[in-house]
Amino acid sequence: MLIAHAPAGYILGRVANVQRNVMLAVLLASVLPDFDMLWFHLVDGGAVHHHRYWTHAPGFWAMIAAVTLSFLAVRKSQRLWPAALCFIAILLHLVLDTFVGDIMWLWPFSTEFYHFTTVPVTHSNWVLSFVLHWSFLVELLICAVALILFLKKPAK
Ligand SMILES: [Zn+2]
Repeated sequence: MLIAHAPAGYILGRVANVQRNVMLAVLLASVLPDFDMLWFHLVDGGAVHHHRYWTHAPGFWAMIAAVTLSFLAVRKSQRLWPAALCFIAILLHLVLDTFVGDIMWLWPFSTEFYHFTTVPVTHSNWVLSFVLHWSFLVELLICAVALILFLKKPAK
């Protein structure tokens, strides 16, 4: 998924009817796994698919979520629901990445990638191949829904 992660996070925040500060956290969480692009470009030099990093491993986030949410629940923290929403935003990112990308859904038990569909290489520029594939219409639809929600009633 190229452009719809933040709009999908916005839709999630609107559906959950969160306040502005929680919306900002949800938006950040919705793009958080892709921060690994810095490592991918600056350190690895593109040698390893960034979906192989722990930032794109659902099992890693499940462990972090279990520890974090358990801690907040035991303390009866008011941050439990916002934190849960942020983990849902990360999960949403990984689900959306699975649409045309590869995600290691069974990590740490397996490093096999899973995806819904494959974008064939139709142009020398991979971005053009993605943008001209039918699956990009799904991204545009997500963006359109987010824009309609944004124009209908701004977030708190
Ligand atoms: Zn991603």
